[in-house]
Amino acid sequence: MSGVVTKRGAEANAGFADALPPGFSAHAPEISIEHIPCCPVCGSAIRAHFASGYDYELQTCRNGWNFWQCGRCRAVWLDPRPAAAELSVIYPRSYYAYNRSEKVTPIVGKAKAALDRIKFNSFLRRTGIPGSFLDIGCGDGRYLDLFERRGVPKDRIYGLDLSDEQVQRLCRRGYRAYRRQVEDCSEIPAGSIDLAIMFHVIEHVADPVRVVRRIAEWLSPGGALVIETPNLDSWDARLFKKQWWGGYHIPRHWTLFDAGTLRRLLEQSGLTVRYCAYQTGHGSWMNSFHHAAKYNSRLPSPSLASWFELPKGLPMLVAFTALDIVRKRWECPRRRFSWWVRSAMGALAAPEPISLPSMLWRYDIPFGPLHALSASRDISATLKLLCRVQSKGPRPVTRR
Ligand SMILES: [Zn+2]
Repeated sequence: MSGVVTKRGAEANAGFADALPPGFSAHAPEISIEHIPCCPVCGSAIRAHFASGYDYELQTCRNGWNFWQCGRCRAVWLDPRPAAAELSVIYPRSYYAYNRSEKVTPIVGKAKAALDRIKFNSFLRRTGIPGSFLDIGCGDGRYLDLFERRGVPKDRIYGLDLSDEQVQRLCRRGYRAYRRQVEDCSEIPAGSIDLAIMFHVIEHVADPVRVVRRIAEWLSPGGALVIETPNLDSWDARLFKKQWWGGYHIPRHWTLFDAGTLRRLLEQSGLTVRYCAYQTGHGSWMNSFHHAAKYNSRLPSPSLASWFELPKGLPMLVAFTALDIVRKRWECPRRRFSWWVRSAMGALAAPEPISLPSMLWRYDIPFGPLHALSASRDISATLKLLCRVQSKGPRPVTRR
């Protein structure tokens, strides 16, 4: 994808008031930008303004930023976005993704581990334990450890990350870790990966199509890719859409998806979407409320905002997690019931009797991938998308 780099962010600030939001650092620099006029997913130039805001989370720069929605595929992207030369500014060394385990309290760490177990079990039930594993954006390697404990040999566990320090540490421990972006990585042989995961990475990359195509090449026949990314269709995204939504993570999130646009991206890269599920969106809830309380010029309230930061915000974090878990449990039976009602109405109105195999097949829909995906537009989940895609071909051999 090509773009035009502009020194300073004057054009980026078009449409923004001169004054920074209350509480925003006056010392934050203005950074160079790159224009991305066309949709990074489908290439269309037809677009509508979607949202705008500042780097509310880290205050790394003073530029104002805009999101646009594609008129063809509905993906949302940041234009302009930070120039490549500014990556070290917007991802400072303190960026939490680099030292995830050091920044969370022990209680939060245990809760995260429990949620991880639920998440991994949900797709390992379908894939089995893989013979080889790749974590894109592996950080401190906690997921590499998880698969090593489950019996995957260390020389078949791969990790990609941009932190030199983390990669060196993982190499010393015997993993195949590389300091590479997906597009530049030549160390992973084609057709060698049974299971690849990419959690909260696709929204950061410059060219999501190229990234997914590259991963598809690495997958073995029947191999699977699991992607997790913020959900544009979630409750919190709708509620805080105009500027405060935590999922924007301005200016580090460059492309945002709902289930439909993510599906399009994956399918145009030759992958088949097997199912789509939703995770709790507690972090996004917390950041959305935090930004709205702290930077809203009508009600700037740092003390209220502190209730949405850890450690003080732990009760709110627990409450948002519980809300999402309850909603998730409630949504499934409700949708199943409404599908039965619609099916019964359809059967009564059908001109010809529906055969038993057809009924059985249709009964399977509410639990299968089609339902999860087609329902995602109105499910209003607060949750992040978790899409597992599988390359075409026979299933991998399950080790145990
Ligand atoms: Zn598009």
